[in-house]
Amino acid sequence: MKMVGKIERSYKQTYKKKTSTPDPYLPRGASQKTSVCEGCHSVYKKKRWYADRDLYEAAVIIPDTATTVCPACLKIRDNFPGGIVTLKRDYVLPHKQDLLNLVKNEEERARGFNPLERVMSIKENGHGSIVINTTNEKLAQRLGRAIKKAFRGVVSYRWSHDNKLARVDWTREMEAG
Ligand SMILES: [Zn+2]
Repeated sequence: MKMVGKIERSYKQTYKKKTSTPDPYLPRGASQKTSVCEGCHSVYKKKRWYADRDLYEAAVIIPDTATTVCPACLKIRDNFPGGIVTLKRDYVLPHKQDLLNLVKNEEERARGFNPLERVMSIKENGHGSIVINTTNEKLAQRLGRAIKKAFRGVVSYRWSHDNKLARVDWTREMEAG
């Protein structure tokens, strides 16, 4: 797997520089070529990614279109989250289905305008919490806001020092009586 070494190197460079380098997974330079992701079928065109089935079908029949793996699919493959949302306390498991439905709706909405905003995994940690990994920090924040709006509770946001990872903790206790 030659690719893996390459990707690790690019993480290190980005951390060392500590400047305004964007997401290390975003393609460098302005490629004029249209690319399609072989994983999720997102289309990269004029420096933006689109989740659009018609656009994908039109792009794949053009011989000049390149095939690639989009930043979100790379992060999922490498298990390299940009956001970690943890839902805590005793309200969580009895309301798991409602909470996860909201997460799913928010992900679909986010994906409509940025296909790189995706949920990577949803896991129970065995202590009554649910841990949701997202591909980018914006979706983690969006989930925190949406869950607080719909279910109240308390939400907190923390960022890693390089701002590449957002940790969102939401807690709600069961109400007495
Ligand atoms: Zn993809």
